[in-house]
Amino acid sequence: MQEPDGVLPFYLTGSPQSSRAVISGRLARLSGPVSSILSRHAWPDAVNEVAAEAMALAACLSSQMKFEGVFTLQAKGDGPLKTLFADVTHAGDLRSYAAFDEQALAGVPCAAPAVLPRLMGSGYMAFTIDQQSPTRPDGQRYQGIVELDGPHLGDAAHLWFKNSEQLASVFLTAAAPSETGWHGAAIMLQSIAASGGTGEAQPGASDIWHDAVSFFSSVKRAELLDPDLSSEQLIWRLFHLLGPHIQPLRPVRDKCRCSAAKVEGALRGLAEADWQELADDQGLLVVECEFCKTARSYSQDQLAAL
Ligand SMILES: [Zn+2]
Repeated sequence: MQEPDGVLPFYLTGSPQSSRAVISGRLARLSGPVSSILSRHAWPDAVNEVAAEAMALAACLSSQMKFEGVFTLQAKGDGPLKTLFADVTHAGDLRSYAAFDEQALAGVPCAAPAVLPRLMGSGYMAFTIDQQSPTRPDGQRYQGIVELDGPHLGDAAHLWFKNSEQLASVFLTAAAPSETGWHGAAIMLQSIAASGGTGEAQPGASDIWHDAVSFFSSVKRAELLDPDLSSEQLIWRLFHLLGPHIQPLRPVRDKCRCSAAKVEGALRGLAEADWQELADDQGLLVVECEFCKTARSYSQDQLAAL
């Protein structure tokens, strides 16, 4: 049976007898949204693989947002794949975008593990949390940047948390195609600070963390992607000795935030000479959303009436 797509938050108390959360976890497994986004873009498989991982990792990290906002993951490199982008709103609306040099990409062997370094070369990954909105003008806005390091995007996320002396965290990301489309998955664990902020973990937590990381390191990428193993089963299989508590799934869906009103707002100030230059042979100005590929076309008359 196909599970709903989304992020399953959970926490570990250290033992079945304890009720105090010591470690928080997230398991993101995305099939439907990743498949539909990737099928619209029709990128080469090597790009699909890292984009599916990026979407799952972004979904995992986005579920830590407490308020309305957007979590963005963006990687930039000097290899054939120049830009990799995925963002997720607090409501679970997911988008993705990639920019690459098609010719250079053709020379990259795709059907092998650890495709990220060959695709992106050296570069960085940035993630941004933007919780500012008209109703929350003082909302949190935050950006973290880390060098791309390691064969998977999860390795860069791990490095950022390590370098920035935030709470101890571990990540694993995976992606693979199947007969029904692409699947992306990510799992993370993070220690919980004693007072709710960053800093010292709870007393006695380091032994529990050590055990949790050792169970975590036993998980295989194939298990993360196994459609016959539910997310709950996987969490129980890994952490049943550490008192796992599973919370409600946060759904993730393929939903772009573009709209005719936004496009028209951007076109409204366009000078007539620019319209002429941008219009096609039929006199239509076609604006395609780079995320969802929706094309909206406007005639000269329609543009003038905006
Ligand atoms: Zn769109």
